[in-house]
Amino acid sequence: MEKIRTRYAPSPTGKMHVGNLRTALYEFLVAKHENGDFMLRIEDTDQERFVDGAIDIINDTLEQAGLYHDEGPDKDGGYGPYVQSERMKTGIYMKYAKELVEKGEAYYCFCTKERLATLKTVVSEDGKTINVYDKHCLNLSKEEVEKNLSEGKPFVIRQNIPNEGTTTFHDELYGDITVENSELDDMILIKSDGYPTYNFANVVDDHTMNITHVVRGNEYISSSPKYQRLYDAFGWESPHYIHLPLITDENHKKLSKRCGHASFEDLIEQGFLSEAIVNYIALLGWSPEDNREIFSLDELIKEFDYHRINKSPSVFDVQKLRWMNGEYIKAMDEESYLKMALPIVDEVITKDLDKKKIALMCKTRIEVFPDMKGHIDFFEELPEYDIAMYEHKKMKSTLESSLTVLKETLPLLEAFDDYTNDSLYAMLSDYVAKKEVKTGFVMWPLRTALSGKEMTPAGATEILEVLGKEESVKRIKKGIELLERS
Ligand code: GLU
Repeated sequence: MEKIRTRYAPSPTGKMHVGNLRTALYEFLVAKHENGDFMLRIEDTDQERFVDGAIDIINDTLEQAGLYHDEGPDKDGGYGPYVQSERMKTGIYMKYAKELVEKGEAYYCFCTKERLATLKTVVSEDGKTINVYDKHCLNLSKEEVEKNLSEGKPFVIRQNIPNEGTTTFHDELYGDITVENSELDDMILIKSDGYPTYNFANVVDDHTMNITHVVRGNEYISSSPKYQRLYDAFGWESPHYIHLPLITDENHKKLSKRCGHASFEDLIEQGFLSEAIVNYIALLGWSPEDNREIFSLDELIKEFDYHRINKSPSVFDVQKLRWMNGEYIKAMDEESYLKMALPIVDEVITKDLDKKKIALMCKTRIEVFPDMKGHIDFFEELPEYDIAMYEHKKMKSTLESSLTVLKETLPLLEAFDDYTNDSLYAMLSDYVAKKEVKTGFVMWPLRTALSGKEMTPAGATEILEVLGKEESVKRIKKGIELLERS
């Protein structure tokens, strides 16, 4: 069997969005699942859309996501150059375009902008208005073409697509797709600035770089018949095509750059772990045979069978990603967890408290690291709180009972010196036993007074341990004061 070779072929136009990352990931997985090679190719032929720094973003994102390439601009595998603007300088695109002209599969076009503006227009699937070229220049004689070229007239080279008949290409997921040739326009292969269009360069490059599988968004389906015609014109075998389903937002609208959460960089900034992002994105359009959801990259490589890619759109659900990220945080070893958690504790807590303990309290409770702030801020300062919080049906806690508990436990806590969780718990359990009440009946008001919060990352005794005697006593007195005032 031939060795699988895939490529991720981004245009350096900005940040890497979820859809781009999914394409890169699937390209990587299709290759690695079969021990193949994954290549990075930079498609920078559209100089107007080029964004400075975008290539660095692509490299950083792929590296952070663990999608290492076997070949690319920084790693020659014998198929270089790996950047299209550099490939252009070798003359490769012009050479192949001229071959098509010779074969009658392409032609020079000298039409001016003004003439093109008078042509019929159609609105493409993505909403762009495009002129339908009327093959005017196809009728130029060889001599006229030579003359125009020698006079230095600006030109483009267009693909010559017949008006009759059909073209069929095969997609691994969608099967055979056939279109009427009359629906295909004579697209430009070489632009007036001498650069090839993406449409032409991707075909020449995929063939000359020996790519076996092309994975890309299904917005490319409509152009694929034209690519197929190019392969056929050259007598080349086309690669296997795998077009991916659309990714939508929660409202089933196409995921767009406008959604703040849609780029890898933004997600990292929002506190998501790259492993969780990669895991989540793998499931945007693919699922294993069982319902398993948590996969490391190595496990994905093992399991990823592209035949199981879905054809229906997948929804990018931030809540689900948050859940998954929480699972990754829970599974982190203590050292890696603290490395990420302690800087956040430092941001919130200026007091001399046991920060490691505070950080560890949150490990099973947060979904992203920034969530920690809201969990731990009460350690720094007791917030203003509503005394209605002391009332709790299940704990049988009322304002009166809470006042009694706080008043009775205050002297016990003042007299106690061993502020460690276990000892505090044992001491308060004695009180619970003597009063013949449930533990919650005592712990609820204490936790409320100590934190001023309905939800805390730990129970009353753990909070007592971290706050220490002086601060705890102060907070309980404050609770008593509030309750007495009511
Ligand atoms: N340069 C194209 C893009 O960034 C790649 C499409 C393809 O994979 O063929 O969308």
